[in-house]
Amino acid sequence: MQLTNRKKVMERKPMNFLESIYLPAVVKGMGITLSHLFKKKATIQYPEQKRPMSNVFRGLHVLRRDEKGAERCTACGLCALACPAEAITMTAAERKKEEKHLYREEKYAAVYEINMLRCIFCGLCEEACPKAAIFLQNDKMAPANYDRGDFIYGKDRLVEPFLTN
Ligand code: SF4
Ligand code: SF4
Repeated sequence: MQLTNRKKVMERKPMNFLESIYLPAVVKGMGITLSHLFKKKATIQYPEQKRPMSNVFRGLHVLRRDEKGAERCTACGLCALACPAEAITMTAAERKKEEKHLYREEKYAAVYEINMLRCIFCGLCEEACPKAAIFLQNDKMAPANYDRGDFIYGKDRLVEPFLTN
């Protein structure tokens, strides 16, 4: 590409006395600081205060139960296959006769983990799931943490709590 060679030579003006002691600049800076004291704050005290989130916000995942309280996930692996970040891993197991009330399908996820450090919250796992088992919540985020290991979310934190009426 050809450059135009357009340029403007700036001349540095010599500072006058007031400018050389920086007083006007300090006063101007203080004025800006003071004016912000009376303006509406742009920041909020997170996590005590939370901003309203959009209905289509994709946040922390949840593994859903069916209307009887059984886990919907059948460990088919489609979510893991659809995940562009390779954030999902699982181990399938076969349901025993006495476990029918716990798992809806004959096969279930004995281990199901999502690495939240890898996840880009795209929602493709939700779209790929044929059992409507995994959803991204629009009101929860994976909280910050100092320990990398804590970003691996297992079933203990993903499966929705069992609700008894
Ligand atoms: S939201 Fe996207 S990146 Fe995160 S686990 Fe699901 S498919 Fe993977
Ligand atoms: S969450 Fe859905 S897609 Fe993923 S393993 Fe379970 S049933 Fe299959």
